Amino acid sequence: MITATAPKKFSVITYGCQMNDHDSEIMEGLLRSRGYEKTEDEHDADVVVFNTCCVREGAENRAIQRAQSLAAAKERRPGLVVAMSGCVAQDQGKRLLDRIPSLDIVIGTRDYIRLPELIEKYQIDGERIVATEDIDKPFSVNLVPIREQKLKGFVNIMYGCNNSCTYCIVPKTRGEEWSRPLAEVVDEVRGMVAQGYREVMLLGQNVNSYMTAAREDFADLLSALNEIDGLWRIRYTTSNPKSCRDRHIEAVAGCDKVMENLHLPVQSGNNRVLRMMKRAYNVERYRYLVEKFRAQNPLHSLTTDIIVGFPTETEEEFQDTLNLVRDMRYDNAFMFIYSPRAGTVSADTMVDDVPMKVKKDRLQRLIDLQESIAFEKNQEEIGRLHEVLVEGISKKDPGQLVGHTRTFKRVVFDGNARLIGSRVNVTITGGNGHTLMGDVVTREASFA
Ligand code: SF4
Repeated sequence: MITATAPKKFSVITYGCQMNDHDSEIMEGLLRSRGYEKTEDEHDADVVVFNTCCVREGAENRAIQRAQSLAAAKERRPGLVVAMSGCVAQDQGKRLLDRIPSLDIVIGTRDYIRLPELIEKYQIDGERIVATEDIDKPFSVNLVPIREQKLKGFVNIMYGCNNSCTYCIVPKTRGEEWSRPLAEVVDEVRGMVAQGYREVMLLGQNVNSYMTAAREDFADLLSALNEIDGLWRIRYTTSNPKSCRDRHIEAVAGCDKVMENLHLPVQSGNNRVLRMMKRAYNVERYRYLVEKFRAQNPLHSLTTDIIVGFPTETEEEFQDTLNLVRDMRYDNAFMFIYSPRAGTVSADTMVDDVPMKVKKDRLQRLIDLQESIAFEKNQEEIGRLHEVLVEGISKKDPGQLVGHTRTFKRVVFDGNARLIGSRVNVTITGGNGHTLMGDVVTREASFA
């Protein structure tokens, strides 16, 4: 009698940024191509991968504790393979094996494409593996990501970062910048469109410094992607003010599929702090770029990242940040308290001298200001007509649909689930600081 063997199961647990989300999609695709099936329950899996982030201590500790908690499961099921990938893995390498006795494989931010082979090697040899050596090696392979959403998908256009912001661990954990060939990115997006995707999010630490070996830049890439039939929307993140060039601004203005949202991290509104951070631009340059961008792209929303409580930041310098936020009128901002990360220049050479109480107070004042601006800006949207890509059913109210405008504002509205996957025109009827409410006016297009 022939008995079928149940397929092996994997679980990938992801922390951190969109780059990590997409790396997880690629690892999932690689495992599926070897016959594994996905499970959300790590206690039911034969392979568990923790794809980690080390930007904040909390996320790093959570990942490590969760991996440690698999020790008992590993004793019960010796065949269970536990791997750790992402920035913590790249940064700590072999030290993780000492910290987590139940860990079998440590796999770096450019080695993860070898995940299935490393699992097999571990299963054959039984020896724990550290694979973090490919950090500066370009890789260009036929990756088969398993994307969670079927309408919008991430596409990596470049890896690594050549900058040296003093608070950031990324250059150490993600290696030198390397841009994927333009034709390869275009082919991947064409393939996604053939599968029904309508919106792509181009990912990289500094997308606007994209530059291929053939000297094709970010403007060339946007123009090439804009020509793809069936693709409706192109987003990109993150742009660095340092690398913002006229060609980029003009390409955005000239490509009708590029969405009207610019995410331009400023980090601080004070020049001395920006110098301490080694951000390589000053506040005047940042203001000039935004002015220029808005002159050519007046419908764009603007979002940013800000750090408060950087070493030696004074109250007056923090006030400069508040003033910049008032002037820029950001639609949204990701706001953080400075937290020193071992291995960064700021952690190794600067004293973290702003008391936590002061940092928290500054963060709260910044959040209050930004939320009031976001609320005002969303109130200004009332009565305007927006194209919305209908993405799904609202989690809060199953009778409502949810989607995003081309300015990347979230909108909820009444509608039939059959509209999911189409673009509709919505009149905005209300909004708080985070979400707009609206009424569907016309249905414009559909996948069906
Ligand atoms: S630009 Fe600066 S903050 Fe961004 S990834 Fe590079 S070093 Fe880190």
